[in-house]
Amino acid sequence: MPFEIIDGSKMAAEIRKEIKAEVEDMKARTGKVPGLTTILVGTRPESQTYVRNKKRACKDVGIASFSYDLPEDISQKKLLKIIKESNRNPDVHGILVQLPLPAHIDEAAVQSAISVEKDVDGIHPMNIGNLVMRGRKPLFIPCTPKACLEILDRLKVKIEGRRAVVVGRSNIVGIPVAMLLLHRNATLTLCHSYTQYLPAKTIDGDILIAAAGKPGLIRGDWIKHGAVVIDVGINSVEDPTSEKGYRLVGDVVFEEAQYRASAMTPVPVGVGPMTIAMLLRNTMDSANRFLSGKK
Ligand code: NDP
Repeated sequence: MPFEIIDGSKMAAEIRKEIKAEVEDMKARTGKVPGLTTILVGTRPESQTYVRNKKRACKDVGIASFSYDLPEDISQKKLLKIIKESNRNPDVHGILVQLPLPAHIDEAAVQSAISVEKDVDGIHPMNIGNLVMRGRKPLFIPCTPKACLEILDRLKVKIEGRRAVVVGRSNIVGIPVAMLLLHRNATLTLCHSYTQYLPAKTIDGDILIAAAGKPGLIRGDWIKHGAVVIDVGINSVEDPTSEKGYRLVGDVVFEEAQYRASAMTPVPVGVGPMTIAMLLRNTMDSANRFLSGKK
């Protein structure tokens, strides 16, 4: 059976090109460009890398970035004040707080403090609520779930009437991606750490989304022949042969999956670059909404 490695980097480059043209057009018409505030608390190396990549992507397409690198011990009050200032700043159309936050900060309070109209990560309860309910439209869809659907759509994968299996039920990935697939009329199975006989569930999926954060959890023979597999997991595993001493792997054993799936995203260059592209898309759409007065 033919097998396609889904090129997330190439897809993301196409989207960045589209957005760059839109930014240039906006600048020519209005003299303004979209703006994104990124807030990083602490010095976790992965978070620093993610934020650096997001800022670089903004720069590439002409989106202005306003960044805050805050100390690990910043108080919740000070963090909320920065968010409120960004909520008021007319040059800012999107606010991203890199997760996870230190334990002394209430993540839910931070998520709720971001203006619904600037919540480009789609984590405000109002946006999530509207995403979950039928017939409602959130202002923003969280970037990784949006990336998964964008990949399926760009590959012209039929969703309606097909079986979709999602492994993982986090607020930021598993639940929203499951809801998006359900709203597109897939028959949905949502698995989590209490699911029994997981392979018997995953084998049913015409579309399989793995978002458990467990390296190599899903083996080749857990996958339906011909399934499209989106591996969201990014896991660091020890690798003495690599220069850094580690390498990044997904939740699915790629070497086995290629003999069962018809197409699959590799890790880290599958969903990762598409997630950043969706952040740019959300920021662009937000700026358009603000500048057209439709917010
Ligand atoms: P969380 O840790 O918040 O959620 C993991 C989910 O997986 C939970 O719902 C958990 O179940 C479930 N789970 C864990 N172990 C198993 C198991 N053995 N069997 C079935 N389900 C299991 O992670 P996130 O959703 O934030 O992220 C998931 C992965 O995606 C991570 O590797 C993360 O790094 C990656 N990621 C990648 C992004 C990208 O751009 N490519 C962006 C965001 C995340 P329960 O609810 O019962 O605990």
